[in-house]
Amino acid sequence: MKYDVVVIGSGPGGYVAAIRAAQLGKKTAIIEKYNTLGGTCLNVGCIPSKALLDSSEHFHNATHNFEKHGIEIPSPKVNMQQMIARKNGVVKQTCDGIQYLMDKNKIDVHTGLGSFVDKNKIKVTDSEGKETILETEKTIIATGSKPNYFPGMEPDKDRIITSTEMLNLEEVPENLIVIGGGVIGLELGSVHARLGAKVNVIEFAGSILPTMDSSVSKELTKVLKKEGFKFNLNHRVQNVENTGNGVKVTALNKKGEEVVFEADYCLVAVGRKPFTEGLGLENAGVKMGDRGMIDVNDHLETNVPGIYAIGDVVRGAMLAHKAEEEGVYVAELIAGQKPHLNYNLIPGVVYTWPEAASVGKTEEELKEQGVNYKAGSFPVKALGRARASMDIMGMVKVLADAETDEVLGVHMVSARAADMIMEAVTAMEYRASAEDMARICHPHPTYTEATKEAALAATENRALHI
Ligand code: FAD
Ligand code: NAD
Repeated sequence: MKYDVVVIGSGPGGYVAAIRAAQLGKKTAIIEKYNTLGGTCLNVGCIPSKALLDSSEHFHNATHNFEKHGIEIPSPKVNMQQMIARKNGVVKQTCDGIQYLMDKNKIDVHTGLGSFVDKNKIKVTDSEGKETILETEKTIIATGSKPNYFPGMEPDKDRIITSTEMLNLEEVPENLIVIGGGVIGLELGSVHARLGAKVNVIEFAGSILPTMDSSVSKELTKVLKKEGFKFNLNHRVQNVENTGNGVKVTALNKKGEEVVFEADYCLVAVGRKPFTEGLGLENAGVKMGDRGMIDVNDHLETNVPGIYAIGDVVRGAMLAHKAEEEGVYVAELIAGQKPHLNYNLIPGVVYTWPEAASVGKTEEELKEQGVNYKAGSFPVKALGRARASMDIMGMVKVLADAETDEVLGVHMVSARAADMIMEAVTAMEYRASAEDMARICHPHPTYTEATKEAALAATENRALHI
């Protein structure tokens, strides 16, 4: 079989690249080793985690907030089997949707492991060992990533688990240890904290979410402590042991003293690593870069002309929307267009409640780069909308260039921050000033008024409602 473009991997990077290539008239095939399309994001990542976050937030509201709103119900109970079954239904619907999109765009789907025979030939081996050879002009590698771990904390998928097993756990642990106070640790930790688990986070760095703006990490620490999280910062995990009906975790604290933690389960969430096993990159002469990533140039092309790589398997943020943008970029490049991708404006969101969201430079980065900047902040609790709904925790911070007033970064913790951040992304894409953002009429009462107020504060320290 001969193709213009073959995509290996059907995650958000791969399937979006395939659709765009097909839209541009290229005869396209996609290879996926699993029976369902959609990759990490749809099967064991973004979608199932958000389904469980929404379910657990409903439970939390029913147990903590309904009464204050004047709604009295007999004490609600968690039915974990039903929660997981609903999540599985959402995942199935979403994955089936990708199959529909492949059919609609006349993209051939080959199920099996894709591996290079040479630069222009890819072998697909299905679960029964049957081999098919695809010939192709161009190849896009979109094989994604898998959970990372360090010596001493190897997951056994029983008591020492990764996000993949956690998303299918049909019980609420009484005690849960989370190694890593990053995005996965806080999101999946939130699911179980809301359902009643005592969550103990062991984090190597001096703060949670160490790469985000420190104002976000400080605010979210407050929020999650209220939810019952315990944080052990500056702790280096030495060993994790499955004790049969639980786990024992040994760590060294800042002073070098040994600390022992015990719990029912331990979630290992210390990052993800690029996945290239079985790809046969050496047969095509594709070079690897640092930490198992595939090396690419500014146009996402590998050292072999005509072979591109996108998403989690290359440098940059491991985010679904980053992978998607790279998929579109490469497909358009292959079709002879001149696409554009602004890596500075890829937003990041943490789906706790309230949510955290960021775009552009953090205050720490601006300081490090010696940029002359000004900052304006506004607390969510000063908003009428926040008092009406009782979601009063959080803040919005706008960072702008001290001379030109151009917005350089926006960081927030707020109910609905995941959606609110798009105002900042759009403004920054058009290189708006803080005053531009402040002068735009924002609907009342909404959480977006906090962004306007923070922009006013950054402009001339003239926030109106504080
Ligand atoms: P993947 O989605 O990993 O897809 C790669 C695909 O390639 C897989 O299906 C794999 O089976 C297949 N494959 C690999 N090798 C081969 C081969 N040789 N032959 C055939 N097929 C192969 N990101 C967000 O932006 N928002 C979120 O809310 C979010 N939540 C997340 C929650 C969790 C629990 C996790 C684990 C991740 C989350 N992410 C989130 C990250 C997001 O899932 C990834 O950034 C995204 O899936 C990367 O897309 P990708 O296309 O590069 O790779
Ligand atoms: P992460 O990089 O977000 O967090 C890992 C955390 O573990 C960091 O805080 C790090 O300091 C800590 N850590 C590292 N080594 C440690 C050790 N030995 N002991 C204790 N702590 C240690 O990684 P993650 O949470 O595993 O998520 C993986 C990827 O998936 C991320 O890149 C993220 O972008 C993506 N993801 C995104 C979302 C989202 O967009 N909402 C949700 C989930 C996952």
